[in-house]
Amino acid sequence: MINTKHVINFNPENCVGCKMCYKACFIDVISWDEENKKPVFKYVSECEHCNYCEVSCKRGCIEVIPDFASQKFRQSFDIYR
Ligand code: SF4
Ligand code: SF4
Repeated sequence: MINTKHVINFNPENCVGCKMCYKACFIDVISWDEENKKPVFKYVSECEHCNYCEVSCKRGCIEVIPDFASQKFRQSFDIYR
């Protein structure tokens, strides 16, 4: 299991419930709250910091802040140095 400390900031105020962020996430970090028509950032520790959700949100509601110190980044593994 990936265990990173990426941070995903979500500002629901400008969210129009278009679902683009939910569809953009290819690894199920984002769930969908059907009742409130809003994304739920459920498994952030498994985020791959691809930023697809952020760039797909035309309302600017999402900010992904990668954890650059994470061991998930290959450049931090000795064998890649
Ligand atoms: S892409 Fe943006 S506006 Fe659309 S549901 Fe996601 S957060 Fe809301
Ligand atoms: S940055 Fe990528 S992996 Fe992480 S929540 Fe957004 S779309 Fe999913």
